[in-house]
Amino acid sequence: MTSVRTSHLLPTYARVDLAFERGEGAWLIATDGERYLDFTSGVAVNALGHAHPHLIKAITAQASKLWHVSNLYRIPESERVAERLCAASFADLVFFGNSGAEAMELAIKMARKYQSASGRGERYRMITFDGAFHGRTLATLAAGGQKKYLEGFGPVVEGFDQVAFADLEATKRVLGPETAAIIIEPIMGEGGVRVVPNEFLRALRRLCDEHGLLLIFDEVQTGVGRTGELFAYQRCGVTPDIMALAKALAGGFPLGACLATAEAAKGMTTGTHGSTFGGNPLAMAAAGALLDVVLADGFLERVRKVSIVLKQKLAEIKDRYPTVIAELRGEGLLVGLRAVGPSGELVDELRAEKMITVAAGDNVVRLLPPLIVSEEEIAEGVRRLDRACARLAKAREREKVGAAG
Ligand SMILES: *Cc1c(COP(=O)(O)O)cnc(C)c1O
Repeated sequence: MTSVRTSHLLPTYARVDLAFERGEGAWLIATDGERYLDFTSGVAVNALGHAHPHLIKAITAQASKLWHVSNLYRIPESERVAERLCAASFADLVFFGNSGAEAMELAIKMARKYQSASGRGERYRMITFDGAFHGRTLATLAAGGQKKYLEGFGPVVEGFDQVAFADLEATKRVLGPETAAIIIEPIMGEGGVRVVPNEFLRALRRLCDEHGLLLIFDEVQTGVGRTGELFAYQRCGVTPDIMALAKALAGGFPLGACLATAEAAKGMTTGTHGSTFGGNPLAMAAAGALLDVVLADGFLERVRKVSIVLKQKLAEIKDRYPTVIAELRGEGLLVGLRAVGPSGELVDELRAEKMITVAAGDNVVRLLPPLIVSEEEIAEGVRRLDRACARLAKAREREKVGAAG
């Protein structure tokens, strides 16, 4: 991978030496004029692709009225978006922040506060799972538990017990008198598009009910249509008490939200939490416009339809190139290809085909086209993948011959 030292920006990213200046739907146009098929969507953010007319109109209209007022006052725009999110989900209450990590940070605070408001202040620990990703703040890093992200940053925030992925016995073993909640992504995104089995999620729901724990779903990546349902919990039939959203929620405008039942949120009284920017009118205009489109009749049905087309075509590619692709994973338009070789190699070959994708854990390449992707664009993406795989398969063949000779 080509990585560049970018001037005065903190060098925390291994950036590709490529910049874009505009986008149209599922396409990105680079500064050199090249057109790229965007199967990353800003990592599951640009749900309506780039330059969607309805989003442009909404945000432009709001920009000439009011951007920001602070949460010292009522923000009618945020009350409306909250009402729509609650009408479309299990939740009664919403808090708006600016990112996924903030939404998860509040989910953690809320669960602890719930236990304390229930007279069980000794319960503050959370059970989380290997390979999880919940954000980059100190608490959400502790929740994710990944050593490579925690090292060198001082004492790890106390109170997270990590168990093996989908291991019910291990979960029961760590569950104790201090456990407050269980945190899980219904489909692990960064961890490699690992779909959590429904029966495991159902078992977690039962455990939570039996022991007075809260079930927290991190739907920062899976939420807002990505899996073909508005929220992933709706496809697995297990309802959480608290849910974090962000990425796609405002179609590219920074916005996060923590949704909860009134019961789960009962400790979050006046003064217990806040955010300067959270839920400002500009962000709300973007979120409202995004919901107009995603909640419109037939939108999610179409997502499900194109995702089936994509999956069928990808299954053929996987069969054709067993030395390149080991496994196909995911739901809806959250798709993972587990690579045989290094996942970065496939990402690079795809970029050479002018198609951008993103690597995840477990040696997986994620395909995250915008939800508005057309069947023709899906077919085009698969043709590019076919060419990239053909080149890698040939290289494998040559390596084998070389090794044998
Ligand atoms: C991206 C992501 C986050 C963190 O979101 P940020 O907006 O980067 O803070 C948290 N959880 C999941 C599941 C994510 O995919």
